[in-house]
Amino acid sequence: MSDCIFCKIAAGEIPSNKLYEDENVVAFHDISPQAPVHFLVIPRAHIPGAAAVTPENSHLVAKCFEVIAMLAERENLAGGFRVITNNGADAGQTVHHLHFHVLAGRKLGEKLLRD
Ligand code: 5GP
Ligand code: ZN
Repeated sequence: MSDCIFCKIAAGEIPSNKLYEDENVVAFHDISPQAPVHFLVIPRAHIPGAAAVTPENSHLVAKCFEVIAMLAERENLAGGFRVITNNGADAGQTVHHLHFHVLAGRKLGEKLLRD
């Protein structure tokens, strides 16, 4: 999608602090970190969000999680980490390209939601 910020990051048209990339998946640090470790893992292909996962593209979700597991090991997240994806307005999704937030580096709240 030509006006999608994460498509542009994946294509290298917008700079980002990348941790990893391959033909299917890109991982980069979130510009506004919510924890000492906060990076995003995205498929290169434009999938608008979790609600747009289908039998045709779900292998890319699996690829994202393979990268999350690899980076958890590489970035020494053995103490634990949280994976979040927001879908739609009520969840506060601001970028409409599927992305998995990976948060770590401190004890995360035991409650999944604050309110
Ligand atoms: P959402 O609110 O859609 O779940 O998450 C979007 C995330 O993308 C936010 O955490 C936000 O900080 C991050 N973000 C938005 N624009 C950029 C950008 O240009 N570069 C990077 N690295 N992160 C971004
Ligand atoms: Zn996109």
